[in-house]
Amino acid sequence: MPKWENNVRRVIPYTPGEQPKIRDLIKLNTNENPYPPSERVLEALRNLEAETLRRYPDPASALLTEAVAKHCGVSPDRVFVGVGSDDVLAMSFLTFFASGRPILFPDITYSFYDVWAQLFRIPYETQPLDENFRIVNRDYYRENGGIIFPNPNAPTGVLKGLDEVHRILEHNRDVAVIVDEAYIDFSGTEEELKSGCNVPASSALNLIDEFDNLLVVQTSSKSMSLAGMRIGWAVGSSRMIRYLNDVKYSFNSYTMSQAAIAAGCAAFSDMDYYRTCTAKIIATRERVKSELSELGFRFPDSGANFLFVTHPEYKAADLFRQLRQEKILVRYFDKPRIDNYLRITIGTDAQMNALIAFLKKTIC
Ligand SMILES: *Cc1c(COP(=O)(O)O)cnc(C)c1O
Repeated sequence: MPKWENNVRRVIPYTPGEQPKIRDLIKLNTNENPYPPSERVLEALRNLEAETLRRYPDPASALLTEAVAKHCGVSPDRVFVGVGSDDVLAMSFLTFFASGRPILFPDITYSFYDVWAQLFRIPYETQPLDENFRIVNRDYYRENGGIIFPNPNAPTGVLKGLDEVHRILEHNRDVAVIVDEAYIDFSGTEEELKSGCNVPASSALNLIDEFDNLLVVQTSSKSMSLAGMRIGWAVGSSRMIRYLNDVKYSFNSYTMSQAAIAAGCAAFSDMDYYRTCTAKIIATRERVKSELSELGFRFPDSGANFLFVTHPEYKAADLFRQLRQEKILVRYFDKPRIDNYLRITIGTDAQMNALIAFLKKTIC
């Protein structure tokens, strides 16, 4: 081995879900939105001018930051935007988890957390979900260097009520607590969506004024059909946002492209459209839940745009392979505790009908 390799920062990277180039694939493996982004987004991208692209973008992404602030009902100094929530989360790990004490997160969760912890040399301890895949509150009431969990959790879809999130915060006033709300929009009720509300009752955004150590991270990738545009954001106290910006400006001043800023602003101007899409996905999820139950599948209730299912008689790994042959791609994690589960993204009604039809044929 050449000597220089002793100096390499070695990491085991995160493995994202496949993006295969198979024609007519029914892609239910990465929790993308099956509906297109708002027409206004496409229009904004078509209208980008040469002069705009010739110049560097606004390093503060002020227009986009203001749009997020309005969307979340806070002032712009409480908003940080980044290149997808992955970028925002990575930056938050680097900024807030510097104590040297172990941070806490669930054993079954977004598998990027341990990758970032290793990359940034942050010690961590995972806390086991209970037998119903619930995050156990009291595991987070101990001495720690910070806390992060998704709500709803991934890949389980399990939603924690706001009262329980509140109690975790009450027990952790001296460390940063990050709630990753990539899927929170799918936890809303039909009434909430109809009322034009952008902040579901279970969102930790409702606690943001009470805790200056709370950071809520959200994304346009799932509920706003913009996974390809890479727009995420964090909302917290202005003190937290200042610290995040200091780290960002020590790293890369121009994280958000002119295209991302234009597309993001256009998307936030058309939330009625997105709420309609979200309501459709929730309705499809509820229907698919009852059809999968009839086929003998079991799953924790989901507040997200996916279901995490298992079958007492059919192995998940086999079903995964059979589905793939049918050009239906779902996600399978070959990991302890969850290696007999499939994570199925909620697609359009037609896509889900194809999935159910195939499962009906296979299971009987
Ligand atoms: C999808 C996802 C993200 C990252 O989404 P971005 O596309 O980077 O915004 C973050 N956290 C969880 C739990 C996710 O599932």
